[in-house]
Amino acid sequence: MEFNLEDLLRPNIKKLKPYSSARTEFKGKASILLDANENPYNLPYNRYPDPFQTKLKERLSQIKGVAQENLFLGNGSDEIIDLLIRAFCVPQVDKILTFSPSYTMYITSAEINDVEVVELNLTADFDLPIDKVLEQLKDESLKIIFICTPNNPVGNLVPCEIISLICNSFKGLVVLDEAYVDFSTEGSMLDLLRKYPNLCVIQTLSKAYGLAGLRLGLGFGSTQLIQILNKIKPPYNVSQATQDIVLESLTQTNRVEEEIKKICNTRERLYTYLKASSLFSKVYPSEANFILAQTRYYKELYEYLCERGIVVRIRNIPPVLQEGLRFTIGTEFENKELMKYITEFETLKKNAD
Ligand SMILES: *Cc1c(COP(=O)(O)O)cnc(C)c1O
Repeated sequence: MEFNLEDLLRPNIKKLKPYSSARTEFKGKASILLDANENPYNLPYNRYPDPFQTKLKERLSQIKGVAQENLFLGNGSDEIIDLLIRAFCVPQVDKILTFSPSYTMYITSAEINDVEVVELNLTADFDLPIDKVLEQLKDESLKIIFICTPNNPVGNLVPCEIISLICNSFKGLVVLDEAYVDFSTEGSMLDLLRKYPNLCVIQTLSKAYGLAGLRLGLGFGSTQLIQILNKIKPPYNVSQATQDIVLESLTQTNRVEEEIKKICNTRERLYTYLKASSLFSKVYPSEANFILAQTRYYKELYEYLCERGIVVRIRNIPPVLQEGLRFTIGTEFENKELMKYITEFETLKKNAD
């Protein structure tokens, strides 16, 4: 299918003259900076950050094997989701397509921007309803489809062939949210970027990299798409503290890998435990750092755990997902505590019967 990014852009964005900050205009090496109304004291954070995060991008581009011109950095991937919607969807005219259950920020972002959301239910096995998807993709006012894999809150994957099929069948933008990809056995679909100009992959340092507090999201796409995101982003969207600390953190080469291994081992222990428990009617295998399980006691168990200082997430999202609890994988100790209290609760229920 013919794809033209220019045609997809909102007219006001196409003709937008971007805000030009002091640090965008000046490119040389200066020793006296009197251009941005900063306080000259209190180094180093008295200065505005590098608007294009040059050093950090250089490093991340090596790690990810993607050219810098195909990489965008956002204040968390949530910012990238918002920027994509704002670049391509005319309020009250255009639509996005998303799924239930999935990450709900796509919907919130669309609603804030007054953009209509088409939400398709996943199948009973939490797969994409592909026939219905293909039908929807014909809608001229549909501009973006958001696909999350591994999917939050289930933890299952969307196969690569399905992504290819969707990219091939859509004139709009296909956004693949790989927030949990580092925990998955299948790995990233970044390679597909070379094949599909309408694909945009987003990742984050908030989950596997353990840097949620710093807010750094990664967007990958065609040079043209990245230029558009750069044009509309807030000039200083990634703080200097974030740029510095992330860069430093990326030198700890084995840390992330080791943590992922530990988390995946703990996940398998929790999975085995939940499967064996009589409380849960269903426990889903996960390629992410959480496990979804269903129990008719979901509210009671949630409260029971809260009273013992453990917070989990209720995921009751009818019609496809009912009575769900999503357990994030914590440390080995935290996981033992969780299992201990679930067992306590189970015993209470058994004695009550
Ligand atoms: C957590 C999460 C994000 C948010 O990432 P940030 O980079 O912290 O904004 C994005 N997508 C999904 C599916 C998530 O679960």
